[in-house]
Amino acid sequence: MTKAVLALGSNLGDRLANLRAAVSMLEEAGLEVIAKSEVWETAPVPADQPPYLNAAVVAETGLEPLDLLRELKRIEHDLGRREGTRWGPRPIDLDILFYGDLALNSETLTIPHPRIAERAFVLAPLTDIIDEPLPVLGKTAAELLEAVGLEGAWRTRERL
Ligand code: ATP
Ligand code: CA
Ligand code: CA
Repeated sequence: MTKAVLALGSNLGDRLANLRAAVSMLEEAGLEVIAKSEVWETAPVPADQPPYLNAAVVAETGLEPLDLLRELKRIEHDLGRREGTRWGPRPIDLDILFYGDLALNSETLTIPHPRIAERAFVLAPLTDIIDEPLPVLGKTAAELLEAVGLEGAWRTRERL
């Protein structure tokens, strides 16, 4: 089993219900979710779309990285996501942030996710669930968040 760290985002429909449904579907797919961040509301990038709810989870999985990606895409599809413009509004976005301490660079999958260090909407939820230096990156989420600033990310009172 490997510890995978996943990012969840939603900015269409019932955003909180979408995040919660995604967590249930991850569990139904056999992942054991062992840590859940708080739910954050974040300003969208690019800005011409509704605000996001974002969260992150740590999950134990026996799936290989590409099988995990396929599973995430299936869940996204089941929750109503269809191909659209990249970085456009969607009911759910599921990204693999880390997979153990693996570094991987293939055409369809890059691990760690390449844009973690520049995104407050990814780093803020990560500070809820991982205190240690992050795999491969070697810095804590809190350190990286301090560098980009917390601007555009607010803790909500909701739980996953
Ligand atoms: P971003 O990658 O900047 O967060 P996005 O999540 O909006 O953008 P998508 O349209 O959801 O991008 O995904 C585009 C492709 O990225 C996916 O089809 C997948 O093959 C690829 N990809 C590469 N690395 C990862 C990763 N670590 N997690 C999820 N998808 C990845
Ligand atoms: Ca994404
Ligand atoms: Ca994605």
